[in-house]
This record gives sequence, C-alpha cells and structure tokens, in this order.
Amino acid sequence: MIDFRLTERDKAALAKTYAEGRIVRKHARYYDEHESEQAPDELPEAADFVAPEVPEVDIAKDTTGPVMMTLNTIASYWGDYAVRLKNRTGGGLGNAALAAAGTPEQIEKWNNLVLSMAITEPGCGSDPSRVQTTAVLDEETNEWVLNGEKIFVTTGIRADGVVCWASLDLSAGRAGIKSFLVEKGTPGFEVPGKEKKLGIRADDTAAYVFNDCRIPRENLLGGDETIPKGKGSGGFRGVMKTFNMTRPMTAAMGLGVVEAAIDFTREQLEASGFEIDYTAGTGTQPAAVERFIELEAQYEASKLTTLQCVWLAGQGQPNNMESSVCKAHAGNTVREVTQGCIDLLGPMGISRDHLLEKWARDCRITDIYEGTGEIQRLIIARGLLDYSRADLS
Ligand SMILES: Cc1cc2nc3c(=O)[nH]c(=O)nc-3n(C[C@H](O)[C@H](O)[C@H](O)COP(=O)(O)OP(=O)(O)OC[C@H]3O[C@@H](n4cnc5c(N)ncnc54)[C@H](O)[C@@H]3O)c2cc1C
Repeated sequence: MIDFRLTERDKAALAKTYAEGRIVRKHARYYDEHESEQAPDELPEAADFVAPEVPEVDIAKDTTGPVMMTLNTIASYWGDYAVRLKNRTGGGLGNAALAAAGTPEQIEKWNNLVLSMAITEPGCGSDPSRVQTTAVLDEETNEWVLNGEKIFVTTGIRADGVVCWASLDLSAGRAGIKSFLVEKGTPGFEVPGKEKKLGIRADDTAAYVFNDCRIPRENLLGGDETIPKGKGSGGFRGVMKTFNMTRPMTAAMGLGVVEAAIDFTREQLEASGFEIDYTAGTGTQPAAVERFIELEAQYEASKLTTLQCVWLAGQGQPNNMESSVCKAHAGNTVREVTQGCIDLLGPMGISRDHLLEKWARDCRITDIYEGTGEIQRLIIARGLLDYSRADLS
C-alpha cells in the first residue's frame, strides 16, 4: 500500500526548508534582473538565520526516503526556482549520472564535485542518439580526445566538471554513445558563455566547447569501452535510467513554484474578501473561488503523481513510465496553474511588484529539459501499447 506519511523529523526538516525559502525569495527579483551576476553560495542573511520554533535537522542525515526528498524539493523551490537551482546542494544532474553509471571508484573520486550534464548539442536535443561529439582513444597516451559542442548546460558555469555524452563511433548510433567525466580546467574544455533566457535567469545555463580535449582513459563512466553489435544500446539504456529519478525531481522543482503561486493567489483572494469553502458544492461559490479550487486540485494531482513515482523507486519497483507521467503532468500543471493564477489576479499577476509573473516564467522550463512534454508522451504511449522505439518515434 502506498504510504506518504512523514516522521516528526521530516516535518521539522520541511518547516526549516520553507523558512529558508523565505530568505531565498528576498533575492529572487534581484537575480532575475541581474542575470549576469551569480548569486553567492551563502546568501547574506544565512549567517543570521535562526528558526527557534524548528529543531535543527540535518536533512541529509536525519530524514529518509524519496517521498521526503521530493517534498523537500518542492519546499526548496517554493522559495525561488532560479536562486535555489544556483544554490542547490547535492550537485547537479551530472552527479545523478555519475551515481547511476560510474564504478564505485569513480563515484568515490568525483562525487564531491558539482557536476553538470551535457547531452544537448546544436543539432541534437530530443533525440540524444544523434550526439555528434566524438571521443577517440589515443592508445599511446591512454587518453580520450573529445571534440564537439554542447549547449544549454544547467549549472554549467558553477559546476566543477561535467558528465559529457560523446560517441566512440558515429556510425554505431545509440550503441556508440558513452559518458565521460571532464573536469573544469582541462585544456581544450572551454566555456564560451552563459545563455540568456525567459526564466530561471539566475541559473548559469552555459555552452561548452571541447576542442581536442584530452582526458584520462579511466574517465569513461562505467569503464566499458565496447560497442555492442546489432540492436544493442550499450551503456545508453543504463544512462537513460538516470532520468527515472531526475524527472520526478524536475517535476517537484516546478511544483514548488506552483505551490508558491497557489499560496500567493489564496492570500490575495482572501485579502479581497473571498472565502474559500472546500466543502461547498459546485456552482455555489463565486467563480473566482471555484476556479482557484480547480487550480489547486490540479496542483495536488500533479504532486500525488510525482510522489507515487518516487515511492515506487523507494520500493525498488520500476518507475520508468511513471517518471514520464509525472514529468508530463507537471509540465502542463506549471503552465496552466501559474497562468490561471495570473488570470485570477489580473494586473497584480503581471506586475513586477510581485513574483507571480516571474514564477510563471521560471517554471516554464519544467516542460523542456530532461525531455519535453511531447517526448514524455511518446515514452508513455510506448509503455502503454508495448511498442518499441522503432514502432513509435
Ligand atoms: C534552461 C535550459 C536548461 C537545459 N539544461 C540542460 C542540461 O543541463 N543538459 C542538457 O544536456 N540539456 C539541457 N537542456 C536542453 C534540453 O534538454 C533540450 O532543449 C530539450 O531536450 C529539447 O531539445 P531541443 O531543444 O533540441 O528541441 P528539439 O528536439 O529540436 O524539439 C523541438 C520541438 O519538437 C518536439 N519534438 C521533438 N521530437 C519529437 C517527436 N519525436 N515527436 C513529437 N514532438 C517532437 C519537441 O517536444 C519540441 O517541442 C536545457 C534546456 C534549457 C532551455
């Protein structure tokens, strides 16, 4: 039976995260408008932060389970998506890839680094099997030589290194793709710039160039240099599994913003004299209240779908399709609910005096990275119909 109950410590940890979120939120507008600046690792008020009503809890040590981790992600991003993304602990998407595909020695060696993940290229996004970056082995020096270009790398400037997808043999398609760890400072690894974006402007989304970049042979994650013949996918399938946990986390990040929008809208409606009665029948309350309850219900549905996905992972059960379901659902929810909140609040919704317009911009990314909504729906359809990639692409 699905169980989302939290321990008392979990609840305390969540309260602490929300309290920290209020600090983070104070900086949200500044770093949105000054996107070329990097938010500091420690925000100015952090040293003075005391939350006497919340017992000190080390979230990493004192709480357990993917359900709690997901709720804590929602709480973190409730503060501010972009500043949190920049300040997040536990590393980037590359750290998840290292944990999924690295050998125990590789994990031990690099896990203390913040690692970005570079798959997307100017000619390859939704279909990562089209990666054109190459890795050629120099047998004399025992080094891989990387050449290629990557774009839209989240946390790309701040990261200490990157897990980069490159092909050992372009003619082998997916089977030839492997992941390599490249540390910042390696000659030939250049970071030409930061992308300018609609939302999450505080995050340092970067472009990377690999120009005869030489890395040690042992930097191939997992260490398997073979390219399977026929229809095999090599290490590709294993690396794609990384997304089974990162997709629900991406959903949770977006849902944190939605929760912020819901809370703000509720406050404003109540301040305007509306009473929200969750027990009243349809058609008995003002239209604005009924619309708000619909938006809140959509948020709750998305959250439950996401929690179910991570709960399955915590039970050691497959969650491949559920990870796409919750990501696709959250991708719609972030758009529809933040837009619905703007509709309800009118000018206040789009005024830069408030954060709602920024939240609507920030959460748009939920439906783009880690696979767009369309790609999630393809994965879901394949799962439901028992189709292969060749049957439905
Ligand atoms: C802010 C930001 C951060 C990012 N961070 C990272 C990162 O850290 N690492 C990384 O590697 N990438 C990252 N990305 C890239 C992101 O993963 C890609 O943008 C995404 O996968 C889509 O790829 P694309 O942009 O090439 O679009 P395309 O693949 O060209 O797709 C364009 C449109 O066509 C649709 N489409 C494509 N194929 C199909 C199909 N078969 N059926 C139906 N519709 C289809 C897509 O859904 C999309 O709407 C980031 C992107 C952004 C904007």
